[in-house]
Amino acid sequence: MSDESTTDTDAAGPVLEVSGLKGGYGAIQVLHGLDFHVNDGEIVVILGANGAGKTTTLRAISGMIETSGSVTFRGESIQGSKAPDIVRKGVAHVPQGRGTLNELSVEDNLRVGAFIRKDKEVDADMNRWFDVYPVLRERRDQRAGSLSGGEQQMLAVSRALMSRPDLLLLDEPSLGLAPLIVKDLFERFAEINKETGMTMLVVEQNAQLALGIAARGYVIESGEIAFYGPSDELLGDDKIRKSYLGV
Ligand code: ATP
Repeated sequence: MSDESTTDTDAAGPVLEVSGLKGGYGAIQVLHGLDFHVNDGEIVVILGANGAGKTTTLRAISGMIETSGSVTFRGESIQGSKAPDIVRKGVAHVPQGRGTLNELSVEDNLRVGAFIRKDKEVDADMNRWFDVYPVLRERRDQRAGSLSGGEQQMLAVSRALMSRPDLLLLDEPSLGLAPLIVKDLFERFAEINKETGMTMLVVEQNAQLALGIAARGYVIESGEIAFYGPSDELLGDDKIRKSYLGV
């Protein structure tokens, strides 16, 4: 099942439309023609086993690897565009391993996140995300590299939010974090989505948690979409649950 139409989408329509997406690393092809979409204001999760191609999918969208096929963001093709141009168009990517600048302070990381902005509301936004993650306010002068794993993840997310993205790509935000911190992190994603309407595409191994906040999910297997559907349908299907979701 890799063919997918957007006719069943909600009234808001797709922000991101991916069709026939192929990509990989040099001679190694990882993605074998993916079709999926993310509607405006939606949280969508990409699930799948280790090595299925989830991270590669996010890299393909944000212009970090060579691709073919079609990637459309708000009706405009971004396939083949360079990563900084894709950020400027409103796509922010929180990579696996977080990608914070370890030698810089928390505050400077956030300012780097706002590098594409010319408006005067950067400080106001920083305070807004400090309200969401108060520990970052307490540690605003601390070197990012000395933060705990959970704090670094909060910083990585806040840094991406500082670019005021229309679409936030989150790559395995739960990786290496304690269950309670992960639960809290996901609750914050759901809150931010609800309050700002920000569209989110989340790659995650923790299927139960991710489907808990997502409207829909896609399961990738060997670089192809094996199943997709509303979160409750994926969780409610015994075969999919046991074979693909590990729950
Ligand atoms: P995980 O859940 O383990 O992070 P994933 O679904 O995100 O897995 P990817 O990281 O997208 O999987 O990797 C898909 C395939 O591409 C794997 O077989 C991996 O070994 C390969 N791969 C990833 N990065 C590179 C790279 N830089 N060069 C060559 N092959 C790579």
